[in-house]
Amino acid sequence: MKIGICPGSFDPVTLGHMDIITRGAALFDKLVVLVLVNPKKQPTFSANERCEMLKAAIAEQGCTNVQVDVYEGLLADYAREIGAAAIIKGLRAVSDYEYEFQMALTNKVLCPQVETIFLNTNAAYMYLSSSVVKQVASFGGDISRFVPKSVLPAITRRLLVTGNHKKEEEK
Ligand code: ADP
Repeated sequence: MKIGICPGSFDPVTLGHMDIITRGAALFDKLVVLVLVNPKKQPTFSANERCEMLKAAIAEQGCTNVQVDVYEGLLADYAREIGAAAIIKGLRAVSDYEYEFQMALTNKVLCPQVETIFLNTNAAYMYLSSSVVKQVASFGGDISRFVPKSVLPAITRRLLVTGNHKKEEEK
């Protein structure tokens, strides 16, 4: 069975993420969407909330070969443990590339049997990031064109009430 991993922080999930997830799912028997926990970062949504939102968004899309998992540690170790064939990453702009290139080369050293595959962003979502969603929602803007329907109420409610985007910006 060919297994792919789509890693990220998904804080929160956007339609840009879902585009990469659905296209990635079509390439593998099984795709694991992996919420990576970085103890040095203070996310807006807890790992559990991020997983639950991803599960709802994946169910909304009707993807049956996609699972969600959470991991605190090296992606290369997780990939080796589950016998993954590839890591799938989305590229929005040339600016994403330098960092992703470095990560892909590092993971290749740590886990040579796992390839990194880059999928180009869908042009409709190339501007979209979790930070943009948080920024717009925290000022009461309409994020319905940015996030999956199933998670819109939860994200809107939380970000409007807490203005939580500030956490990241003030770091
Ligand atoms: P971000 O916080 O920048 O949205 P994540 O770490 O949650 O990033 O992203 C996980 C993966 O999804 C990364 O490979 C990232 O490049 C990709 N991604 C995020 N947004 C988009 C988008 N709009 N189009 C394509 N890929 C995207």
